[in-house]
Amino acid sequence: MIVAMMEKATEEEIQMVVARMVEIGFNVHRTTGARQTVLAGVGQPASFDVQDFQIMAGVADAHRITSPYKLAGRGFAPQGTQIKFTNGVTVGGKEVVVMAGPCSVESREQIFTAAKQVVAGGAKFLRGGAFKPRSSPYSFQGMGLDGLRLLREVGDATGLLIVSEVMEISQIELMLPYVDCLQVGARNMQNFNLLRELGQARKPVLLKRGIAATIEELLLSAEYILSGGNYDVMLCERGIRTFETYTRNTMDISAIPVLKHLTHLPVLGDPSHGTGRRDMVPAMARASVAAGCDGLLMEVHPNPDKAVSDGAQSLFPQQFEQLMKELRIIATAVDRTLS
Ligand code: PEP
Ligand code: MN
Repeated sequence: MIVAMMEKATEEEIQMVVARMVEIGFNVHRTTGARQTVLAGVGQPASFDVQDFQIMAGVADAHRITSPYKLAGRGFAPQGTQIKFTNGVTVGGKEVVVMAGPCSVESREQIFTAAKQVVAGGAKFLRGGAFKPRSSPYSFQGMGLDGLRLLREVGDATGLLIVSEVMEISQIELMLPYVDCLQVGARNMQNFNLLRELGQARKPVLLKRGIAATIEELLLSAEYILSGGNYDVMLCERGIRTFETYTRNTMDISAIPVLKHLTHLPVLGDPSHGTGRRDMVPAMARASVAAGCDGLLMEVHPNPDKAVSDGAQSLFPQQFEQLMKELRIIATAVDRTLS
């Protein structure tokens, strides 16, 4: 059940409603937007009448939630979730936030050079995997803790925020001091134990769509994190597997407006994994911004031909700089900003 409080509802009235919801067996999640407080009751209370809530003091509206995702649904935070990071960066606001960097952290020189290049282009986050989910066990698996240390160091040196992938529960605690955002990769989108544990963390999560996941499944995976009390979740369309083989994946641009309609969570586009081809990345990045994404995740490498992973889809630094100029124009056209 969703209970939207009136703008002028007092804290006492809100607490009365919360107490009543708890009494009948709901777990209550609360969001306070600029204008109103919304209370979401999740759980399976035996029976209740929404009308009892509709007539309570301070209540603007109360209704049952019919969608399977209660907290990820737009109704829980109609104004949209904004995730605030240090250095004044907000994801989910007017600015389209760009996260860029190599697929993997490979060396000190590589990550420092990449960071310099993406910050010059206007990125706010540096991406780079320290733990890599690779299709083959013989491929480079990431630098691990050494990679995390380099990420933190370069983040502090450049002012870039750090996003890096967490592959399993045991890595969460280890990663917290080194990253500003934990990425859950496509292959782990339905690792429910990992998602539950991330719900207990107090660190934003970037959740990527699984290669064969529906939009509803993506939202239900987000729900696992939200239901643990971690509301700072952003979603990422990164291409899905279809019968088409020309591109590595099929970038589902329509998922962006669909998600923006269904959920209050920020939505990102990843045209690098979405296409797997550097020559297609700019077009899909531009399309993502035009479609209303709140951010982009893109692979950029100082020397893509020498990259240990995903070189073919990594932009050359000059390409990234040129693309950022184009994206600024598109952002303005759709009433957004991009720095
Ligand atoms: C990545 O971002 O490098 C990555 C492994 O992405 P995905 O999980 O979307 O394949
Ligand atoms: Mn990659």
